[in-house]
Amino acid sequence: MLKHWYQAKKIVESEKKSNIEIDTSNVKKYDVVVVGAGPAGASAAYFMAKQGLDVLLLERGPFPGAKICGGTSLIAEHTHKLFPNFWDECQCERIVMQQAYWIMTEDSLLSTSFQSLKFTAAPYNRFTVKRRVLYQWLVDKAISAGVTFQCNYKVSEVLFDGSQAIGVQISPPQKKQFFADIIVLADGANSMVAEKSNLIPRVSPQNISLYVKETIVLPANVIEERFQLAYGYGSIIGLLGYPTAGFNGTSSIHTFQDSININVGMTISDFSISGIRPYELLSRIKNHPFIRPLLVGGTVVEYGASVIPEGGYYAIPEIVHPGLMIIGDAASLVNGTHGINLAMWSGFFAAQAAYESKKKRDFSAKKLFLYRTLLDESFVMQDLKANAKIAKLQQDLPYLFDLYSKIANETAFQVSKVYTMPKKAKRIFIFKKITSMQPLLKMASDIWKVIKVVRG
Ligand SMILES: Cc1cc2nc3c(=O)[nH]c(=O)nc-3n(C[C@H](O)[C@H](O)[C@H](O)COP(=O)(O)OP(=O)(O)OC[C@H]3O[C@@H](n4cnc5c(N)ncnc54)[C@H](O)[C@@H]3O)c2cc1C
Repeated sequence: MLKHWYQAKKIVESEKKSNIEIDTSNVKKYDVVVVGAGPAGASAAYFMAKQGLDVLLLERGPFPGAKICGGTSLIAEHTHKLFPNFWDECQCERIVMQQAYWIMTEDSLLSTSFQSLKFTAAPYNRFTVKRRVLYQWLVDKAISAGVTFQCNYKVSEVLFDGSQAIGVQISPPQKKQFFADIIVLADGANSMVAEKSNLIPRVSPQNISLYVKETIVLPANVIEERFQLAYGYGSIIGLLGYPTAGFNGTSSIHTFQDSININVGMTISDFSISGIRPYELLSRIKNHPFIRPLLVGGTVVEYGASVIPEGGYYAIPEIVHPGLMIIGDAASLVNGTHGINLAMWSGFFAAQAAYESKKKRDFSAKKLFLYRTLLDESFVMQDLKANAKIAKLQQDLPYLFDLYSKIANETAFQVSKVYTMPKKAKRIFIFKKITSMQPLLKMASDIWKVIKVVRG
């Protein structure tokens, strides 16, 4: 047991990171302290404990997922590879059978939708899950693997001995300090702990999006009828164009057992340029003539806002430091709005690096760099790299979603409308109409830019 007690009995003066007085005498020292019990932190803690490491998992909320609203979609294959047959253990809401995109303007909606029975058999494709259920399930797994879990502990910053991370400081009222060979920061998007500890620069407002979301309760059979779903199955619908009021941003509707989630967001810099308030975007969607009927009789039971790092590959900060790794959203590991799978896998890779470091008793950045190497070799970084230029494309073409949603809907309208003019004249009329919205050469140049980015 002696190995668990840090008996250095010294007051370590932090060299450059902070001026906090550190007292390590007679304090238990863990192998790893993980900050944040989201999918990244809980997965990291679980896989570390499974390999025999002594792990402390700290969460600022009163229970896992306490500060998080609504539900989310979970990619089955990525999750199944880490947690085989997770659907037997974690209570999932609906098996997603239908994926759709609605390209919207004020008065029109052009939809593409795909559904397949192939998505309804194991190992499935996606599920919808309630966030609190998912977070609690992961933390319960970590606890049963031997992790010590503490909630209501908000970490304020990392403690250093020189440049080596050695512990964390808890915010008042606890004001405690915890020590470990390795610190893992998994405190989510816009990591205040990493920023305050001078480990990452402040995230640029162009690289972070603010999302607002609402959970609306409706009977299960009403959801199935309105979204044309078979009993027990679900859909995810991406909404483009009108929801984000002329700016590039995204929105979606997720169906759960007896509720739906609507979320919408765009970059913080676009909110500041436009002066639009986040809730106004949600009202736009809810009052749209084709969405309002889907919500009739529903009751809003939850409303929340959260941020998501959307800078992509080039916005990933330095994620390995002496004695410290940054994982999940805190490391900007988000692809579009998909992050839970990346968060869990980053936790898994951090666990491999922590285990190897512990085995060699080497907690240097060089040794922990295994985490970054494993990430680089995996789908996580490879997918982020493939989409690396999307954030820049959206900045270069700020009208992309809005203008092309209007063009797509106008084209669909004109093609659908029956005129008395002859067909050939109608084609010329439509061509002129569309090119009056965006000149042909400009359109070709925009399409070429998009193709180049998609090709990677
Ligand atoms: C509107 C919206 C919709 C999304 N939809 C999807 C989706 O459908 N599918 C998908 O895969 N991803 C989705 N994402 C992204 C996904 O939510 C994140 O990528 C994922 O939650 C990241 O997990 P994480 O563990 O890194 O961070 P988080 O889930 O944010 O967890 C961080 C944890 O750390 C805790 N914490 C924070 N600060 C401290 C502190 N100082 N001390 C102690 N604890 C702290 C928090 O309370 C929290 O529990 C969505 C995001 C948003 C905003």
